[in-house]
Amino acid sequence: SYILAIETSCDETAVAVVKDGKEVISNLISSQIATHQQFGGVVPEVASRKHVESITFMLEEAMNASGITPDRLSAVAVTQGPGLVGALLVGIVAAKSAALAFGKPLIGTHHIAGHIYANNLTDQIIYPCIALVVSGGHTELVLLESPGRFQMIGRTRDDAVGEAYDKVARAIGYPYPGGPHVDRAALESEEAISLPRVWLEPDSYDFSFSGLKSAVLNAVNQMKMRGEAVNTGAVARGFQESVVEVLVEKAVRAMRQFGGQQLLLCGGVAANQGLRRALSERCEREGLRLLIPPLKYCTDNAAMIGAAAHLKWQQGQYTTLDMKAEPGLSLEDWSV
Ligand code: ATP
Ligand code: MG
Ligand code: FE
Repeated sequence: SYILAIETSCDETAVAVVKDGKEVISNLISSQIATHQQFGGVVPEVASRKHVESITFMLEEAMNASGITPDRLSAVAVTQGPGLVGALLVGIVAAKSAALAFGKPLIGTHHIAGHIYANNLTDQIIYPCIALVVSGGHTELVLLESPGRFQMIGRTRDDAVGEAYDKVARAIGYPYPGGPHVDRAALESEEAISLPRVWLEPDSYDFSFSGLKSAVLNAVNQMKMRGEAVNTGAVARGFQESVVEVLVEKAVRAMRQFGGQQLLLCGGVAANQGLRRALSERCEREGLRLLIPPLKYCTDNAAMIGAAAHLKWQQGQYTTLDMKAEPGLSLEDWSV
């Protein structure tokens, strides 16, 4: 199949053409980070307007770069949710127009299914597997017993990991998005402040990061009140060690309990060097297979949407043209 895929759920306008859910034929991304940086975070209204400004150009460029003519397309896929409703709508309107103009079926696609299936773009997913989804809005452990069947075994009860990183980053003076800055500071620091690990109930696969975030903010405030310079490195390292330890431990336990053949790490925080290292070492030691997509497929992109949409295309599960944006779309419900 040749799938034209569109992603506009947050602050990246992205369009790709993907063959058979595996081979990236063209993949274009226009990031709005520079625009949102001045506001310290993503402003939904601004995101929608930026998507409108670039989507038509991006579609044309992705088709041109693919070198294939529209008649050879099998389907048009688009992120239906979760995401910012106004941002999603821009991609959806563009996808509907393209599907109608080219006479091709439409496939509404789940953004997190995309993050998970990014692993199929450079590797071959083997089942059953466990996906550890760590992104700006999500922190989840997902079991896949077969292709496209998603079972949620754990999720965050409050903040997502990426969100916690961005808030901690802001507290110690880094610009948005702060995750990469905290990551770098953590790895360069010799010292670490001591912070709690939040495990929840003994057999729970859920996560909680808001208490940890508050503990970090308290520690920073105390340093300030004592008139000390804030040791940003020690704060970053203490925070990162707590987050990484809990993520690694729960992911490995899920692999054992559910007989996972592979652990798939995905989402924007999969770019975190501390997490990648700790997870690689632990999996190596325990003889578990770990897949991590290259950085460009960890953060938001449209190739991953094409990879996930292929599952639906194989089953002939198309979406009607009256489809709406679903900001709270459930991953399990999107299963094939
Ligand atoms: P979602 O996929 O849940 O809708 P999103 O698409 O906004 O959210 P992504 O683009 O997948 O999220 O990831 C962005 C997040 O990843 C940001 O919170 C950013 O700070 C974080 N991030 C990126 N690189 C790193 C890193 N090296 N360490 C920690 N966090 C990082
Ligand atoms: Mg983003
Ligand atoms: Fe994302």
